[in-house]
Amino acid sequence: MMSSIIRQDLSTKDWTIFSVKRAARPRDYKEIKDSKLIKKYEPDCPFCLGNEEKTPEEILLINGGKDWSVRVVGNKYPAVEAREAFGDRYYNRRHIEGPYLSIDGVGKHEVIIESPWHDDNLVKMDVKHVEKVISAYRKRFIDISSEPENQLVIIFKNHGRRAGTSLDHPHSQLVATPFVPGYIRNKMFESQRYYDDFGRCVYCDIIDYEMKSKERLVHVNDKYLAVAPYASVVPYNVVIYPKEHQACFAEISKGDLLDLAGVLQIVLKKLYSLLDDPDYNFVIDSSPINQSGNRHYHWHIEILPRLSTRAGFEIGSGMNMNSILPETCAENLRNQKVQVL
Ligand SMILES: [Zn+2]
Ligand SMILES: [Zn+2]
Repeated sequence: MMSSIIRQDLSTKDWTIFSVKRAARPRDYKEIKDSKLIKKYEPDCPFCLGNEEKTPEEILLINGGKDWSVRVVGNKYPAVEAREAFGDRYYNRRHIEGPYLSIDGVGKHEVIIESPWHDDNLVKMDVKHVEKVISAYRKRFIDISSEPENQLVIIFKNHGRRAGTSLDHPHSQLVATPFVPGYIRNKMFESQRYYDDFGRCVYCDIIDYEMKSKERLVHVNDKYLAVAPYASVVPYNVVIYPKEHQACFAEISKGDLLDLAGVLQIVLKKLYSLLDDPDYNFVIDSSPINQSGNRHYHWHIEILPRLSTRAGFEIGSGMNMNSILPETCAENLRNQKVQVL
């Protein structure tokens, strides 16, 4: 079967990954909203404890052995593939067809299985377990950063059908790409320009202002803050920032993982209770690998509940339309009690 190929739109410089293997993905997502109806073990689920032989190669185990806590494996239906998949061809090769450009789809596509239990959920786990999930993110991010073909690492979670989940066992994913796409390149460019103008990181300035104003704060702990952004792109959009300036997710220290797990879980619990377990995506947005340590970019986690659909105007204009002000969302989230689930 053809390996992954990445084509460039000549008019916009945007890229599309073509991976025909992904068409064979099973879709066993059942959308069971009543958590009491989800079983702890599903015999056919490749991610359940005891079914380890159903997944591709194991890459990382947290709390190794039979009673693993978090398990990282290759994606069985990868969007991009390790360089070995391209045979003896020179990896990262460019291909020209008439005016068009494409690149071999070299990279990494991994699954972080967040729990051995099918009915588990980031909002239900002990916060120490969420810390283990984030420590798996960190370990893989750092290891993948040392491989020369990878330029950008994106770690993300799709929760629920509207967020693109295909398997309901709790998991997140990691994709490493062989170039920096335009969306990230533009954010890097704008933060660099702000740094040129003012000599400060734009995100550090946002953090300082939000900490003082408090109007859009959702939650704060020692090391992190969660904010409903001033120009939120969707209702209940929340962003988590490290208070200290860090350009790249790989710069996070082991000692900060529990605080990050704490703020992430509290935000997810508040969204769960307030919006009745909404579908959502979260994404770790970080500097590209070869720009870690820079002074102008500041990694963060974007949380995007899927309450609305991106429609014609948004597609046509690249703008967002949002029906709720972030000040209202932040107030509702602050007032939402964190429940034991
Ligand atoms: Zn399962
Ligand atoms: Zn900063």
